[in-house]
Amino acid sequence: MTLNILIAEDDSVSRHILTAIVSKWGYNPIAVADGRAAWELMQQEDPPQLALLDWEMPEMDGLEVCRRIREENPFSPPYIIILTGRTDTVDIVRGLDAGANDYVSKPFKNDELHARIRTGKRMVDLQNELVAAKNALAHAATHDPLTGIFNRAGILDRLDAEMERARRAGSRIAIALCDIDHFKQVNDTYGHQAGDAVLRCFATGIKNALRPYDAVGRFGGEEFLVIAPDCHETEARGLFERLRSRVEEQTTSTNAGIVSITVSMGVVINSGTTAVDFLLATADKALYQAKNGGRNQVVFAAV
Ligand code: GH3
Ligand code: MG
Ligand code: MG
Ligand code: MG
Repeated sequence: MTLNILIAEDDSVSRHILTAIVSKWGYNPIAVADGRAAWELMQQEDPPQLALLDWEMPEMDGLEVCRRIREENPFSPPYIIILTGRTDTVDIVRGLDAGANDYVSKPFKNDELHARIRTGKRMVDLQNELVAAKNALAHAATHDPLTGIFNRAGILDRLDAEMERARRAGSRIAIALCDIDHFKQVNDTYGHQAGDAVLRCFATGIKNALRPYDAVGRFGGEEFLVIAPDCHETEARGLFERLRSRVEEQTTSTNAGIVSITVSMGVVINSGTTAVDFLLATADKALYQAKNGGRNQVVFAAV
C-alpha cells in the first residue's frame, strides 16, 4: 500500500515542490499550510504514518505539532521529520527533544530528503510488522486454533469482565459448562479427524445461536463454556434448552460419514458476586448431574 505522507509547510512554493517530489517518489502526499491543520489531520482515523513538518508555521509551529502528536499516539507513533532552516545544535536538540525522529535542513537536497524518507518508511514498515505480530500473538493467546472461538484463557478473561459488569449493573449472568456426550465414541467410530470436524461444527453452531453479547469458549477437549450476560432464569432456561436441542438436531458431514451428537449442560446463574472458581465448580456439579441423569439435558444448579 502506498505510504501517506503529511506535508505541513506554510510557504506555498515549497509546499508545491515538496508535494510534487514526494508524489514522484511514489508516496501519497497530503499537504496542509499550517500547524493547526496538520494537528487536526493527524487526529483523524488512520492518519499518515510519516510526517514532514516545517518548523516555522503560523497557528502552531512544527515543534508543537510534534509534541502533541507524541502525547496522543504513544502506541502507534508516526515517523516525524522536521524541516528547518535552523542549523544550530541547540535547535536541532530542541527538535529531537520535541519528539522528531529526524530533521532536514532547508534548503534541502532532493537526494538527501529522499534517503531520509526511505529511512522513515523502513521504520514505519517495521513498526507495522511489530504491531501485526503483537496482534497475532494476542489472538493466539486467547483463541483456540481448531475451532477459532475463545480458548480457556480467552473465555475466562471474558467471564471476569462480565462478572464485574454484572456486579456494577446489578444484573444476572448465566454460565453453562457444556460437555459433548460420548465423544470418545465419535473418535473411536469415525476417527480423530472426523472428531475435529464435529468439534468445529459444534463451536460454530453454538456461536451462531447466541446473542451478540453472549460468548462461548473451548474450555478444554470437548468441553465448552457459554456466558450469557444479563440473563434471568426464565430466559436462561429458554436459551440453553434451545442450544441443547439445536445440537441434537444438527449433523456434521465428515469424510467418514454423517455424525450426530448430543450435549449435556450444567448451568449456574449469578449476580457477579461469587468467586469464579466456586461458580465453575457449581456448574461442573450440575453438569455431572446432567450426565448421571442420562445425558442430552440441561441441569440448573440450585443457588
Ligand atoms: P461423556 O459423555 O461422559 O462426556 O463421555 P466422553 O466420551 O465425551 O468423555 P471422555 O472424557 O471419556 O472423552 C472425551 C474425548 O474427547 C476423549 C478425547 O480423545 C476427545 N478429545 C479431546 N480433545 C479432542 C480434540 O481436539 N479432537 C478430537 N477429535 N477429540 C478430542
Ligand atoms: Mg515555514
Ligand atoms: Mg469431558
Ligand atoms: Mg464428553
